Amino acid sequence: MSNAIEDRQNDRSEEQPLILVCNDDGIDSEGIAALAGAMSALGEVHVIAPMDEQSAVGHAITVRDPVRAREWDFAEEAGVAGAYAVSGTPADCVKLAVHQLLSRRPQLVVSGINRGPNTAVNVIYSGTVSAATEASILGVDAAAFSLCEWDGGHYDAAAEVAQRVARRILAKGLPPGLLLNVNIPNRALGELEGLLVTRQARSRWEESFARRVDPFDRPYYWLAGEFIDLDEGDGTDLDAIDDGYVSITPLQHDLTAHEHLAAFKEWTWEED
Ligand code: MN
Repeated sequence: MSNAIEDRQNDRSEEQPLILVCNDDGIDSEGIAALAGAMSALGEVHVIAPMDEQSAVGHAITVRDPVRAREWDFAEEAGVAGAYAVSGTPADCVKLAVHQLLSRRPQLVVSGINRGPNTAVNVIYSGTVSAATEASILGVDAAAFSLCEWDGGHYDAAAEVAQRVARRILAKGLPPGLLLNVNIPNRALGELEGLLVTRQARSRWEESFARRVDPFDRPYYWLAGEFIDLDEGDGTDLDAIDDGYVSITPLQHDLTAHEHLAAFKEWTWEED
């Protein structure tokens, strides 16, 4: 264990850490430019992100179509070493980056800064979080960043927060299989109350579909809904954001309900 840590520190002293920046809002979004700029102070930054918006695609990957990558001019962002726009999902981008497009393995993958929160059950649907999840599956430290605002907002402050979190991850490393999901209230830097480690709030969407008819008289449906916070406990991501704190939730891609394993093993599974 100590040798592994020493090796890691040696790696870092020899060359700048390679940092991959991805997102789900698309490579030309405001948030990814802010995030890439913030990461350029910490290492060699490569931006590899979807050509088009991929919000709410979750952990989808492309297997029945070719995936194309086009070099992208990110020259205006100081310190970005290279960029590609990819015709796929956020998870595709991270896979393609690690296995094909990057010259060496990244030390860190950051995703965002997403337009809108990825708190509570929205983590499941989020393409932003899934880019970071894919990195954790590939064994690379990762974090997802989301700004809790849909229309403009304090991307500069969120980028400062992202830089602080990324610096800490690079210094300490994450346990295997984990990623950090960071949600940032839409406030100026000086107005943020601080950073809190939180858990994902229990919640769901109260779905409603608008039913309409197309010009060929065929019905189609458009998903809408209302977000419901079902959590009555303390320490949730939603609480932190409401109180003006940055929320940092450690997530894992192992979805096993470990605390329930023993109880299910007690069930009788054979028919009498
Ligand atoms: Mn998005």
